[in-house]
Formats: sequence, structure tokens, C-alpha cells
Amino acid sequence: MLKKLAKKLFGEASSVQSSEGFFLNVRCNSCGEVFNLFINKSTDLAQNFDERGGVTYSLSKEIIGSRCRNLIHVKMEFDGGKTLVSRDIENGEFIEE
Ligand SMILES: [Zn+2]
Repeated sequence: MLKKLAKKLFGEASSVQSSEGFFLNVRCNSCGEVFNLFINKSTDLAQNFDERGGVTYSLSKEIIGSRCRNLIHVKMEFDGGKTLVSRDIENGEFIEE
């Protein structure tokens, strides 16, 4: 039902970088394992309020693979329109497509 509403509001997305979410592609620094995680912008982002009453969003994700014990920590910041403004990763690297 929510999905239908989102489509109604924003229209059909034509690319992977849709209004509903995006793929987070990271590689483990320790063993090279690759992770492709789908981030749903409606459910995975945390809402933050700044001192002026504005809204921003953030994502904090910990990824641990099956091959090693390296814990990858991803942090992303989004503006009020859920557009990515900054990102940071520890113990891994972002894979660009
Ligand atoms: Zn690993």
C-alpha cells in the first residue's frame, strides 16, 4: 500500500537510483568479499531534526561477511529530499558502478 502511494506521488522510477532506494555496493578491505545491499529510503533511513527545525536523513550500517570477521561500517548523510550529501566507510570501500 505504501509502495503504491510512493509511486503515485513520485512517478515510476526509470533507473536503479529510484526515489524508493538504491544499491549500496561495498567491498571488504580484509578479504575482498563484495556486498550489494538494497537500501530502502522509506524504511532504512533515520530521520534527524536540525536546530532550525529542518529535516535530514542518515544511514548507519554495519556489514559483516561470511568469509572473515572484519566489520564494515557505512555512514551516509542525506538532505531533506533524501539526496545523498556525504558518505563514509570504515574497513571497506565503496564500489562505483
Ligand atoms: Zn571480509
